Amino acid sequence: MIIVAQCRADFEAEAAIDITRTAAAAGIDVTCTPTKNLGYVVAQAERLDLRRWRKALVDVPPVFVRSIFVGSGPHQLTDVAHAAGQRTAIDRVTPLLAAIEALDTDASDLWMEYPDTNDGKAISTLARALGPRIESELRRRGRLLEDATTTRGLPTIAPRNRKRLHVFMPDGATAYVGISIGESGSPWPMGIARLRMPNAAPSRSVLKLAEALITFLGEAEHERLRAGMRAVDLGAAPGGWSWLLASRGLRVTAVDNGALKGEVAQDALVTHVRDDGLKFRPKRIVDWVTCDIVEQPIRIATLMAEWVGEGLARQALFNLKLPMKKRYDEVLRCVDAIDTRLARSGIDASLRLRQLYHDRAEVTCYLACVDR
Ligand code: SAM
Repeated sequence: MIIVAQCRADFEAEAAIDITRTAAAAGIDVTCTPTKNLGYVVAQAERLDLRRWRKALVDVPPVFVRSIFVGSGPHQLTDVAHAAGQRTAIDRVTPLLAAIEALDTDASDLWMEYPDTNDGKAISTLARALGPRIESELRRRGRLLEDATTTRGLPTIAPRNRKRLHVFMPDGATAYVGISIGESGSPWPMGIARLRMPNAAPSRSVLKLAEALITFLGEAEHERLRAGMRAVDLGAAPGGWSWLLASRGLRVTAVDNGALKGEVAQDALVTHVRDDGLKFRPKRIVDWVTCDIVEQPIRIATLMAEWVGEGLARQALFNLKLPMKKRYDEVLRCVDAIDTRLARSGIDASLRLRQLYHDRAEVTCYLACVDR
């Protein structure tokens, strides 16, 4: 079987390590040779026990993979020369439907996907044009389930149970097809969180925090991030993260020697403290600490483990910037440092890491005390 994983361009080697680690946890042998800047990697598994694979994806979640599915391919839709030179319409629908039929499954959603690269964008028009034709034929055959809604307007199939049919086209001539289910895949096509930039937010960084909250907190967001809670935002300027936290009703201490910009600077819920975020400690315990300081990853990881380990904050959300070559090694070193520090405190906490769509050469981490 084939595993297809999409990632940020230039992070294919890290995505391949992700797949290898998850496969090892599932006891599955995979071969995967990443190619730089493709924006995706393909792995081959001789035998793949789907239940074990999906469980491993939840137990050992990938860090750099944005979206992942299991299926088949590459399926030849036409030859490349033909795709480039042909003026008359090429029938890609028939071979695609045959590949999908061979999966022998139904699904809740059809996602037409392509790499998130400049080359990939050239496929977007074609993929968008093919989507409705494949969808209507799959509905006619009963392969795509009707998405009924409840009286409250919610889909009857909860996100955690949705089965997504992926059609991934690396170019106009080939495609991979496959399935992902619930939390073993991304909730967004191509793993891309398309979020609207709020007009009043002072920086685009706000989208990073918004995506992180959806990714890490999911349905628990309203419970874990509530009006009346207290947060410290380290490296806060120009104030995107502080703005988002205050917009949810949290009281925020924004620590940065730089200035806050726009309406967040006047927000009654936000107190700006000009101080060194690496040394700052709160006078009273807070619910959240966030940190977007550009620093060596190990320093930020250790700092956040101290905040949670010393009981200064119950939840930490932070970025580890990764300008170095051995990015995966650095991430593992940071995870190790956090685990060691928390073990010393006897604090039971969970740590999740993910390179978000809105992240660049960095990963976002969520460290939270586990409620007993
Ligand atoms: N999260 C912010 C937002 O949403 O607008 C953007 C943060 S920006 C990437 C990094 C910030 O960290 C800069 O404003 C910089 O002044 C601040 N910074 C760097 N070193 C710092 C330190 N030691 N203490 C506090 N702030 C620091």
